[in-house]
Amino acid sequence: MQPSDLPTPVNRISCPECGNDETFYEIAENAIITTVYSQNDDGSFTPEEENSEILGDIKLICGQCGKDLSMFHQRFSEMLF
Ligand SMILES: [Zn+2]
Repeated sequence: MQPSDLPTPVNRISCPECGNDETFYEIAENAIITTVYSQNDDGSFTPEEENSEILGDIKLICGQCGKDLSMFHQRFSEMLF
């Protein structure tokens, strides 16, 4: 460990490109979204239930510079509460 190292929590993800550690995007490339609707008496529809099934890759993207941070995605998933 270098003396100049800052004591940052090990589980914090930050972008190696711009240092952003606040805003991230998750992008699902290929997903099937199924929504169940029930039709009302007047012909309008009310959504009852929505299911999404992700088939393709999921990417984690830096919210600041747009760098692909997918190498952190597993850790990101583990830190979702
Ligand atoms: Zn960035």
